[in-house]
Amino acid sequence: MISEAEARAKILDAIRPLPPRKMSILNALDRFAAEDYRACLLLPMFDNSAMDGYAVIASESKRGTRLRVVGEQPAGVDRQLRVSKGEAIRIFTGAPMPQGANAVVMQEDVTRADDEIIVNTEVDPDEFIRKRGCDLGEGQKILSKGEQITATKLALLASQGFAEISVGGEVRAAIVSTGDELARPGEKLQAGQIYDSNAILLQTLLKRCGAVVESSEHCRDDAASLEKTFRAAAKNEIMIVTGGVSVGEHDLVQETLRKLGAKIDIWRVAIKPGKPFLFGKLGDCFVFGLPGNPVSAFVTFLQFVRPAILRMVRAADVDLAKLSARLASDVKNQSERAHYVRGKFQAGNFTPIGRQESHALFGLSQSNALLRVEAGKELKAGAAVEIEIF
Ligand code: AMP
Ligand code: MG
Repeated sequence: MISEAEARAKILDAIRPLPPRKMSILNALDRFAAEDYRACLLLPMFDNSAMDGYAVIASESKRGTRLRVVGEQPAGVDRQLRVSKGEAIRIFTGAPMPQGANAVVMQEDVTRADDEIIVNTEVDPDEFIRKRGCDLGEGQKILSKGEQITATKLALLASQGFAEISVGGEVRAAIVSTGDELARPGEKLQAGQIYDSNAILLQTLLKRCGAVVESSEHCRDDAASLEKTFRAAAKNEIMIVTGGVSVGEHDLVQETLRKLGAKIDIWRVAIKPGKPFLFGKLGDCFVFGLPGNPVSAFVTFLQFVRPAILRMVRAADVDLAKLSARLASDVKNQSERAHYVRGKFQAGNFTPIGRQESHALFGLSQSNALLRVEAGKELKAGAAVEIEIF
């Protein structure tokens, strides 16, 4: 059995980022930038009006002044107009500022009569002008390598004229749920059977990490079925097997993988829940064997599989977000392994929820955070702790 830190280091060491690929910004949401992106255009690109109104010379437009309207400047063309003393130009939001003008008076602040306006307000220089480059300077970094691409970052890329972006490669994943006792949701249960809940859990978690789930198969606990399913699954970048990685007579996963020539790098990690975790490689496919118990599968996915996938897709940060919290009740870890306590983070407090056993799916379903409690450690209610949000 190795420590959790050792296991993580071993996995991340074995994983290499996949080659990047170009894609339309339309499909790039939530992916990770494969390179730095810098501004090639200033924002705004030219001085322009922030209002519908009149472009004027501020010092020549005191309250009560009468100005002659000598032209109109709409958005979308540059009519190369000029404003001189005693003049104004009708202007619209986003339109380029005429030469000579250094302020815009809102249309609500003038009285218009034929081709004249009377200014009904004080006018300051630069008023209602959006200055060239005030938002974004040339060469300024707009997206960093490894950063996750959000809707607003896509909007910024579009504003710079980018139609494509280089992002991390695609991780294809296969899921194999093992166990004679498993039935698919929707099927009729026989006595002694349970429904497979790990398949949907893993499909969802994989998608959330940006992986593509190519297949999700159920396999009985017999060597021949496992062998056939593993062979097919190994065409993908990763394979996730749940159940059958422990030490019982029906736990044939490791044996079958070895028979197929897999190299097993990790088996058993000092983590609770999740001890019978397995990591190895079958051909070019990384294999993660997760315990069958749903909470163990969940915790080991978050601590070992998620960082590996994020590394493959070129994320800079592969860790779950950490937050400070106040512990709402006493927690004691009497085991010799670090314990991930499931609970709810709300209004700065972390409250452990439900039964803290590896089969207890209900408590997990009500939780949104993990608290890692070191082996043998006791924490009192009110203690300041750091939690991981999922
Ligand atoms: P195993 O790791 O195969 O020894 O299974 C440990 C426990 O997890 C057993 O109680 C199994 O019935 C349960 N289990 C295994 N696979 C699944 C699954 N896909 N969905 C829900 N429970 C499972
Ligand atoms: Mg089993």
